[in-house]
Amino acid sequence: MTVGAAGGGAAGGGTAGGGGGSSDSSQALFDRARAVIPGGVNSPVRAFRSVGGTPRFIASGAGSRLTDVDGNDYVDYVCSWGPLILGHAHPDIAAAAKAAIDKGSSYGAPTAAEVELAETITEAVPGVGMIRCVSSGTEATMSAIRLARGATGRDKVLKFAGHYHGHSDALLASAGSGVATFGLPDSPGVTAGAAADTIVVGWNDRAGVESAFAKEPEGIALVVCEPVAANMGVVPPDPGFLEFLRDITASHGALLLFDEVMTGFRLGRGGAVSHFGVIPDLVAFGKVVGGGFPLAAFGGRVDLMRRLAPEGPVYQAGTLSGNPVAVAAGLAQLRLLDDEAYAGLQRRADRLIRGLSDAFAGAGVAAQIQRVNSMFSVFFANEPVRDYDAAKATDHGRYARFFQGMLARGHYLPPSGYEAVFVSLAHSEADLDATIAAAKDVAPELVA
Ligand SMILES: *Cc1c(COP(=O)(O)O)cnc(C)c1O
Repeated sequence: MTVGAAGGGAAGGGTAGGGGGSSDSSQALFDRARAVIPGGVNSPVRAFRSVGGTPRFIASGAGSRLTDVDGNDYVDYVCSWGPLILGHAHPDIAAAAKAAIDKGSSYGAPTAAEVELAETITEAVPGVGMIRCVSSGTEATMSAIRLARGATGRDKVLKFAGHYHGHSDALLASAGSGVATFGLPDSPGVTAGAAADTIVVGWNDRAGVESAFAKEPEGIALVVCEPVAANMGVVPPDPGFLEFLRDITASHGALLLFDEVMTGFRLGRGGAVSHFGVIPDLVAFGKVVGGGFPLAAFGGRVDLMRRLAPEGPVYQAGTLSGNPVAVAAGLAQLRLLDDEAYAGLQRRADRLIRGLSDAFAGAGVAAQIQRVNSMFSVFFANEPVRDYDAAKATDHGRYARFFQGMLARGHYLPPSGYEAVFVSLAHSEADLDATIAAAKDVAPELVA
C-alpha cells in the first residue's frame, strides 16, 4: 500500500498538543457513567485506575488522532489496544463496512466474504489450514482450549504468568494486564475446579515447564502462550524458548496454542509463527484481523479443526460469528497489509523508539524499551524484563507520571505500564517527532 494512505497526521492539522485543555465534559460523562456502568467503563483498563485522573471520553478518531468530548486532540498510541494498524477511520475500511451494512447487517447464514477471509488467513500463516470465526479474542482462545481438550482427552492447560488470553474462567489465572493493573491474583467467580485444571508457569522458565510435564506426563492437553507477551508490557521469548515449547509439547502428546490475538498480522502477515519460524498446532487471532470490529478467529491443523461441530463432536457456535460487516472491514484491512506496509511500520517504530530512548537517556532515567517489530513497551527499570515478577517490580508510579505528562501534552499512551504501545501507518513523521519532543520535555520530571 501507499504509506500514509490513511491521511497521516493531516487529519489533526499536523501538530500535536491539544491535550492540555479541560476535561470537564469527560468528567461529567464519567460521573454519569459510574451510576449505570460498573466503574464507568465497559472494559476495566479504560478507567485509568493505574495512572489516575479522568478517563477521556472519545468523540472521534481520524488517522493518528483521537479527539475527546472536550475538544482535546491526541496522537493515539493505543490504537484501540492494537486493532487499528492503519489508524482511525481508514477510508478503505470505512467504505467496506458501509457497503456491507447496506446489504444487511447479519444473515445467520454463510457468505462468500467468510470464505475469502479464511483463505486469506490460511495463506498468510504457516500451519494454519482451517479457520473458524468468532467475535472476540476471549472466545477464540476459550474455543481453542475446548478443542484441544476434546482432541487429546486431557484436562490440564499450562499457561504463563502475566499472559492474557481473555477473561474465560480457565485462563483467568495470573493473567497480566487489566487483572495485573488491579492486583487481583484471581477473580472471584472463577471456580476452584476451573483453576485446578490450569497450571501457571513463569514466562521463559524452561525448568518450570519441564517440571510441570514431569508431574503430569499425560495430563496436559495444551500449552498456551502469547508468543510475544504483550499484556505485561512487551516481553519477548528468550531465544529458543518457543522451539523448546514446540518440542516438549510434541514429545508429550500435548498441543501448542499461540495466542496471536495481539501479534497476528501485527508482527508481519504471518504473525509470530512466521517471525519465529515455530509452527504451533493452533493459533488464535483477534484485534488486527477485525479492522476495529468485533471479529476474531482460531485455526490450525486441519485434522484438529475437523473435530469441530458440525464435522466433529466438539461444539462451538456463534449467532454473529463471521458477521458480514466485521468480515468486510477485516478483509479491507488485511488487503492493505503488504511488505511495504510492514516496512513502514518498522520505520515508524525505529524512529519513535530511538527518540524515546534519547529522551530518557538525556534525563538520566533508567528505562527498558522492549520491542518486537511495531509493538513495544516502556519499563522504568535498570534491567531487561524477562518475566511477570520482573514486570511487576518495575516503577509503575513513574510510568503513571510519564503517562500523565504525555497526555497533558496531547499524546495518548496506554494508561497502564502493563500495556503495549502501538504505532500505526497513520502516524506521520511529524506525529512521531512531536511525541519525542514531548517525551524530552516530560523526562526530567521523572527523575525526582
Ligand atoms: C486482547 C487479547 C485477548 C482478548 O481479546 P478480546 O477481544 O478482548 O476478548 C486475548 N489474548 C490476547 C493476547 C490479547 O491481547
